[in-house]
Amino acid sequence: MIDIKIFWHKNPDTDSVISAIVFADYLNQKWYNTTAYKLWELNNETKYILELFWEKTPETITNLPEGTRVWLVDHNETIQSIDGREKLEIEYLIDHHRIDFRTSSPLIIRTEKLWSTASILYKMYKESNFEINQRTAKLILSAIISDTLLFKSATTTKFDIEIAKELQIIANIDNLENFAMKMFDAKSDLWNISPEEIIKYDYKEFNLNWTKVWIWHLDTTNANFALWKKDELLEAMQNIKNNSWLDFIMLSIVDIIWENNTSLVLDWKDSDIIENIFEEKVKNNLVDLKRRLSRKKQIVPDLTKYFENN
Ligand code: MN
Ligand code: MN
Repeated sequence: MIDIKIFWHKNPDTDSVISAIVFADYLNQKWYNTTAYKLWELNNETKYILELFWEKTPETITNLPEGTRVWLVDHNETIQSIDGREKLEIEYLIDHHRIDFRTSSPLIIRTEKLWSTASILYKMYKESNFEINQRTAKLILSAIISDTLLFKSATTTKFDIEIAKELQIIANIDNLENFAMKMFDAKSDLWNISPEEIIKYDYKEFNLNWTKVWIWHLDTTNANFALWKKDELLEAMQNIKNNSWLDFIMLSIVDIIWENNTSLVLDWKDSDIIENIFEEKVKNNLVDLKRRLSRKKQIVPDLTKYFENN
């Protein structure tokens, strides 16, 4: 048996965690000895799902010995991955994000333009003629709901809707809307979490043409709560910008119910960039980015284009 470690990006979301769990199951059926690990604490939505379905929480790893064989899900960029990854042996990648990484040896890469990494795993199950049982269906469906905000996100494709329909039947969940709202409410429960932690919840770091960029994203059913904490969040953003030597930082508060993105912007420099890209005015550190619910599809590509030309 080959011993393989699977992990996902820092500040994990539900799709990444579930993809690693489901991928480990898949590989175990193929006689690999696989374990899923986490790099960071899980968010409240993921915790809720794992508890609801009686799933074990994966163990945390912070570093691995040189040459360890690893398989990645839901991310590929070095800065979003485990520290010291360049010394590890990456053998396999399943992802649905832009590809930006370099390796010293060949590997297997499976990427598709689907909603979630878990949707790709659904296809892999089908291709291998593996049965999708109720447990797997529940898990994959939760990942899809989380990454697409229950099909509201711009990343939605027709194929994914078909998958979700089929999974809903196997999972035996009557009211998908209800089920999704409970997930989102769990994610929005931030009362006991400090602004620094909120910021670290779901940020992604990018290196865009030598510009160090942080894009933070908070999907919530309670946008007022985040806006109410605006001053504290701005202070935390400033600290992070200074301490991590960032060139640009933005925080998108995505209201799942009203399908609207209100973003926090720190200073005039960042405001200038935002106004230039999105053609919306920044006022009192806030900018209305309208229905841009997807970071991957509606924020990152525009920022990339901007920084490549400026
Ligand atoms: Mn993810
Ligand atoms: Mn994902």
